[in-house]
Amino acid sequence: MDIHEYQAKELLSNFGVPIPRGIVAYTPDQAVYCAREIGGNRWVIKAQIHSGGRGQAGGVRITTSEHEVHAAAADLLGRRLVTKQTGPQGKLVQRLYIEAAVPIAKELYVGFVLDRRAERICVVATPEGGMEIEEIAAQSPGSLLRVVIEPAVGMQGFQARELCFGLGLEAPQIPDATRAVIGAYRAFRDLDATMVEINPLAVTADGRVLALDAKMTFDDNALFRRPNVRELRDYTEEDPREADASKFGLNYVGLDGQIGCIVNGAGLAMATMDMIKLAGAEPANFLDVGGGASPERVAAAFRLVLSDPRVKVVLVNIFAGINRCDWIAQGVVQAARDQHISVPIVARLAGTNVDEGRRILSESGLHIIPAESLADAARKAVAALGDDVRAGAGSAQAAR
Ligand code: ADP
Ligand code: MG
Repeated sequence: MDIHEYQAKELLSNFGVPIPRGIVAYTPDQAVYCAREIGGNRWVIKAQIHSGGRGQAGGVRITTSEHEVHAAAADLLGRRLVTKQTGPQGKLVQRLYIEAAVPIAKELYVGFVLDRRAERICVVATPEGGMEIEEIAAQSPGSLLRVVIEPAVGMQGFQARELCFGLGLEAPQIPDATRAVIGAYRAFRDLDATMVEINPLAVTADGRVLALDAKMTFDDNALFRRPNVRELRDYTEEDPREADASKFGLNYVGLDGQIGCIVNGAGLAMATMDMIKLAGAEPANFLDVGGGASPERVAAAFRLVLSDPRVKVVLVNIFAGINRCDWIAQGVVQAARDQHISVPIVARLAGTNVDEGRRILSESGLHIIPAESLADAARKAVAALGDDVRAGAGSAQAAR
């Protein structure tokens, strides 16, 4: 799960990371009140969307009067900001962060990631902040500093100081910078983050060290024990299909193809996607209905898969161990009836109660294409896709 910059800054500042004063605003008038409350005479107006690269896309504006604050806020709110990370459709700006603008002398990069190979939290830092880490790594890989943290003892003061000296910081800045690095590490560890990025960590003209941008990503599987993090979730920033799925406890990832997949087990779901590709088409989604899927859950899975208008065929692939094929079959029949499904359905069932499951499907009177094996199912789904595409509008009429 990702959160907004202003939320990440609030969390980090609770762990001692120094940040400039800032307040979130939802309207241009609010933006002006915030600027007044923050004080000073220069403010940055920052679009809050789940994406980096906002600066280059015009989503970060420096302002020097209340009039400019109002104008920048009015211009940004309601705009779709297209950054390098959002894709061409961009992301709608619904919140702004109003922050005191600070005079920057130097921009550094500090990031924390989970290094799965080392099984450790790892800090990556470079004196060349401001740009995205991918660009830094491509342009000056030699500048990257890397520190691996021993989980039994946590990040040590000397490690943080060494890193800060490595970043070229001067002695008077070391205490603040160390506080920022250690604070970010503790926030990562104590909040079950999978990524914390401060880019830039700025040295100001008057020698202070401040986090000017912050990004945090959290482990979805740990959210149950971090209610204060979970409540920061902004569903409007997520793929609506994935947000819906998480409400039903379904594991769904939206893709761009035309064959919708309803599968039990993540491994089988991956294999099904591979087989569809091998048969010459593209999957519309990854979906794992999980073990013990009730007919209601299967119906929810159908609703979810069919909410994607690109889906022209649904492929149901169930290997029932904990599951029961008859339940799945009941779910398929119920969904096909209740939801008036007009696209072809290919079903491959195997495992517990398979005969009963097949009987339910064949006696339902619905046009469900049975398949024997995974390869057979993928071939039939792709063939059905061909028919459907060839028939075009005709098949939609026939369905009515
Ligand atoms: P993004 O990474 O999405 O482009 P940032 O928050 O990093 O957004 O902002 C882009 C740039 O804007 C920063 O690299 C920094 O130069 C400048 N900036 C951001 N916040 C401030 C601030 N409070 N004061 C001065 N400049 C800032
Ligand atoms: Mg940034």
